[in-house]
Amino acid sequence: MTTNTDDCLFCRIVKGEIPCAKVYEDEYVFAFLDIAPFKEGHTLLILKEHSNTVLDVNPNHMQYVLKAIQKIAPAVMEATHAQGFHVLQNNFAAAGQTVFHTHWHIIPRSEDDTLSLWAQGAYTDNGTMGAMARVISQNIIQ
Ligand code: AMP
Ligand code: ZN
Repeated sequence: MTTNTDDCLFCRIVKGEIPCAKVYEDEYVFAFLDIAPFKEGHTLLILKEHSNTVLDVNPNHMQYVLKAIQKIAPAVMEATHAQGFHVLQNNFAAAGQTVFHTHWHIIPRSEDDTLSLWAQGAYTDNGTMGAMARVISQNIIQ
């Protein structure tokens, strides 16, 4: 996992050391097209301040992520004639994270596309579901 921003791919993109297809930049955030998109227009949004996963993002900077999503996602939909979009965020390798600079995927969706990003599972019964909720609650550090 990268903690040194000199070795971080996305920090290097922000610094202009590695080329990208930039779509937006302000004081806090940077956005560019994903090089291997789920769909054309698939955009990556990052905070300029390095963090490895969402668990170590500076909470004071999350407002800038939200503001950027509210600007960029409508533009992505307009450009790709989409009617919707995903905001996805992978944390740790087990969840598919490959670049350890926290990023938000903005992925346009059309009503007639066939993209399927996840399958729906099921709990065996309500008791199992309730037990899981209790265990999660007990593990939340206030
Ligand atoms: P994740 O799997 O959530 O860590 O997503 C990393 C994303 O970064 C993948 O979707 C890659 O296609 C994308 N990616 C990797 N290298 C580059 C690059 N040089 N420019 C743009 N996107 C990249
Ligand atoms: Zn970085």
